[in-house]
Amino acid sequence: MEKNLSEKISTLQKNFYDLNSLFELSIIATQADSIEDLIDKVTTFVTEAMGLKNVRFFINHDRVYYMVASHNSEDNEFFQFENDEEGFWEVLNKNEFIRVADRNGNPIYRSFWEKYDLQNLDSYYFKLFQKDSIPYFICSVGKKLDDTEFTSEDLHYLNKVFNYIGPILIKYIKRRDQENDLKKLQKSLHNISILYNISQAVNFIDDLKRLLRVILNKALETIDAEKGSLMLYNFAENVLQTKVVYGLADKNLETEINNGLIECSKIKVGEGIAGTVFVEKKSIISNLGQNDPRFLDNGQELNVNSLLCVPLIAKGEPIGVINITNKLNGKLFNKQDLEFIEALANQAAIAIDNAKLYELATKDGLTKLYIYRHFYTLLENEIKRSSRYNHEMTLLMMDIDNFKSVNDTYGHPVGDQVLREIASCIQQTVRKIDIASRYGGEEFTVILPETNINDSKIIAERIRKNISKIKIAVKDGVYICPTVSIGMSEYPSCALDEQTLIELADVALYNAKNNGKNCICEYNPNTGCTLIPRPEEE
Ligand code: GH3
Ligand code: MG
Ligand code: MG
Repeated sequence: MEKNLSEKISTLQKNFYDLNSLFELSIIATQADSIEDLIDKVTTFVTEAMGLKNVRFFINHDRVYYMVASHNSEDNEFFQFENDEEGFWEVLNKNEFIRVADRNGNPIYRSFWEKYDLQNLDSYYFKLFQKDSIPYFICSVGKKLDDTEFTSEDLHYLNKVFNYIGPILIKYIKRRDQENDLKKLQKSLHNISILYNISQAVNFIDDLKRLLRVILNKALETIDAEKGSLMLYNFAENVLQTKVVYGLADKNLETEINNGLIECSKIKVGEGIAGTVFVEKKSIISNLGQNDPRFLDNGQELNVNSLLCVPLIAKGEPIGVINITNKLNGKLFNKQDLEFIEALANQAAIAIDNAKLYELATKDGLTKLYIYRHFYTLLENEIKRSSRYNHEMTLLMMDIDNFKSVNDTYGHPVGDQVLREIASCIQQTVRKIDIASRYGGEEFTVILPETNINDSKIIAERIRKNISKIKIAVKDGVYICPTVSIGMSEYPSCALDEQTLIELADVALYNAKNNGKNCICEYNPNTGCTLIPRPEEE
């Protein structure tokens, strides 16, 4: 009777102690602000409450268990292992505390211990925590500080603690996984919207150069990369040629390359990383950067530690490559980055191919200005727009002065060079909204939308003056200094239809030719042709 009572009291005291412990634990659980924090607090609590050498937690990540907490300040080793060991895992799967070391501290599951180098774990018990047959984490319990054996009460207490804390930990992990999934989803939605933007870009960007810039910027922005370049295949020379770059330390150089003022590095097809990617139509990620033996040092800026090169393939044929180097955060490019850039490259290649076809169909090969047919369509559209919005607009028609003699004296190729230089000068002098075309052999037009004749005179004069400054060296000490004559007509004061507008600008041009050339003449509906006085030359 006496004994029975004292046993009862002792059990009651034990229960009370357990209850008190669990109560403390519940306070800890509610105060934690992250999984790491919670695990850290639980580890400390259990280790101290039971006088253990250590307690460690391992979280499952795709069958690999990574140590997340350990109550041992000297414990800076990083343990991890996989659930691939059949025998060991079968035992662990029973959800009980399983003994993993014998009385002398030697591992019972030796091959598993050796495989993952777990000797320093000093573990006596392992417990796997799972829910709905999904393993979440493993707890390793070290030996007792006083070197005594674990009693059944000890195991009972551990069980109570872990049965209480296990589901809470699992809930935390599940919530974090959900948050990560959400983040991934948001990221891929963001990526999809970027792809959508690229495909939309095809609809409004008819300028290949601008399209290439948009594509490269989007690629770099999305994967937080430092710099990149976009290369297109040059059929005539069988090389890859850099068309746009971004992220160079020398911003002036970058602008000059992007404006086509500097011929940039060319790579032979099949050579280097870009050349290989192009030929094999297969992306390359190189985390050796410039130390990769395939890396070609062709005088470009170095400091490449991570590199991603993706082919641009349109209708099954490679048309170029996108090169991206270095992540902004210093990390290396990963599979997700590659997958995204490949998706972007697929869209981009179609857009580039379309833009090239459009350019081929609408632009003149020699001068890169619009051809007559396209000019006519654009003029029709501009007249419609001006009529709808009640705007004036002006048409400039120009013809190179005495051009025949250039051909006759220096030959056709020199004549072609003069045509190219004049076209580029016109393009660079007019505003972005103005439309320059090659109307005929050596005749050019410029549509000036939303611009009345008075404002147009200023633009026309600027063109005339800039062209008159061109100096083309033909041989030692001999230069060609071309000039143009310009005729102007205004919508709607001169004419309401495109054909008459063109004819009247032509009449004005003829008048300019008859007035000494290298000058501008406007068609005035009241007074006929009027010569615009040339300002005093500086
Ligand atoms: P004007 O000042 O009266 O315009 O005299 P011009 O010599 O320029 O006379 P015109 O406008 O009749 O000359 C047209 C010349 O332009 C004839 C042709 O040889 C040349 N031409 C036309 N297209 C091309 C071309 O694509 N390349 C070259 N090199 N010459 C061209
Ligand atoms: Mg002519
Ligand atoms: Mg001429």
